[in-house]
Amino acid sequence: MRATQARIHLDRLKKNIETVRNRIGPKPLLCMPVKADGYGHGAIPIAQEALRLGVAVLAVATVQEGVQLRKAGIEAPILLLSIPLPAELDELAAYRLSPFIADAECAEALAAAAGRAGVRLPVHLKIDTGMGRVGCRPETAAALAAYIASFPSLHYAGTATHLAKADSLTAEALGYTQKQLARFNEALDAIGKAGFDPGIVHAANSGAVLLHEDGYFDMVRPGILLYGYPPSAALASVAPVEPVMDLVTSVVFIKKVTPGEALSYGGTWIAPADRLIATLPVGYGDGLPRGLSGKLQVLIRETLYPVVGRICMDQCMVDLGQDTAVRRWDPVIIFGGIRGALSAGDLAALVHTIPYEITCTINKRVPRVYC
Ligand SMILES: *Cc1c(COP(=O)(O)O)cnc(C)c1O
Repeated sequence: MRATQARIHLDRLKKNIETVRNRIGPKPLLCMPVKADGYGHGAIPIAQEALRLGVAVLAVATVQEGVQLRKAGIEAPILLLSIPLPAELDELAAYRLSPFIADAECAEALAAAAGRAGVRLPVHLKIDTGMGRVGCRPETAAALAAYIASFPSLHYAGTATHLAKADSLTAEALGYTQKQLARFNEALDAIGKAGFDPGIVHAANSGAVLLHEDGYFDMVRPGILLYGYPPSAALASVAPVEPVMDLVTSVVFIKKVTPGEALSYGGTWIAPADRLIATLPVGYGDGLPRGLSGKLQVLIRETLYPVVGRICMDQCMVDLGQDTAVRRWDPVIIFGGIRGALSAGDLAALVHTIPYEITCTINKRVPRVYC
C-alpha cells in the first residue's frame, strides 16, 4: 500500500459517540450523517461501527450513497437529506431509503414509486424554518402532513428542520436559532392539532447539540462532532472530541540544497542557507489543498516542519533545517488527532475553510486504513 493513507481511528469515533451521548442524555436517538462518504472517512465502515455503538439512524445526501450502504448489508433506517430526481425514485423505494418531503409534488411521486415497489415507505416531513434550502413553509406543514398521511404507500415517520446558525455564539445567531426552533414548534403544534403524529422529531446538527438543548427533540443529527471536530472554531473549547482521521505519509527522499537554489514549480522558495529538504508523496491530487503551499506544517519525529515551495499534484517538499534527526522513510503526520500535529481544523483556518471540507476533499486515491 502507498505511503499516503488516511488512518481512520474507530476508537476515537467510539469516544466521540460517547461524548455526544453523555451530552444529550439517554433519550434522544442518534442519527449519524455519513454523506460524502462519511465526511471522507469511508461511509460503510463508519456506518457499521456507529450502528454497533448505538447510533440508530444514518443520513446520506444521494440515493447512490444510500444504495451503497444497503448493498453492504446495512438494514438501519437511512434518511435521504437532499432531493432526488424523479428518475431515482424507484431505486430509492426499492432500497427503502427515507426521504425528506417538502412539497406535494414530491409526496405524490414518492407515493407512486413506493406503490410500484410494493412497500410502505417511511418519509420525513421537512420544514424550512430559516435555512432557506429545502423544506415547506411552517404555515403549510400541517396540510402537507395530512397529504402525506393520506397515501397508503407512505408512512409519515418523522418531522424535521435544519438550523442555519446553530454553531455560532453571537447574540444574533443565538436569537436566530431560537426563532427557527419557535417556528418549528408552532408547526409541530399545528400538525398535532390537525390530528397527526409527527413521528420522530429532529432538528439538531452538531452546533445545536453543543448549544441548544431545546433543539434535541426525539433525535439529533450531529455530523462533524462525531468525526471529531467542533462545527466552528468558536466552539473548540465546548467540544472535547478527537479527530477520527489522521492523514499520514512517509519521507521518500532527502537531499541537501545550497543557498540560492529554488524548489518546486515557479521556484517560489529559495534556500536562504544550506538546507536539508524532504520530499513527501502527497499533493493536491490527493485532495491536499494547493492553497496550503508555504503554510502547512507537518509532524515528523514529534517536530513540526514547514512545507516549502508549491504543493504539486502528487508530491510536496519539507524544510528539515540544517541538521535533522529525520531519516528517509520516517512517518509523517499531515493532519489529525496526534499530539503536536495540525488538525483538519488548523488546515481549514490556513485556507479559510472549514474542517468538513478538508476531510471530505481527501480523495479516493488515498487508501482508508481502519485502526
Ligand atoms: C450535514 C447535515 C447535518 C450534520 O451537520 P453537522 O454540522 O456536520 O453536524 C445535519 N442535518 C442535515 C440536514 C445535514 O445536511
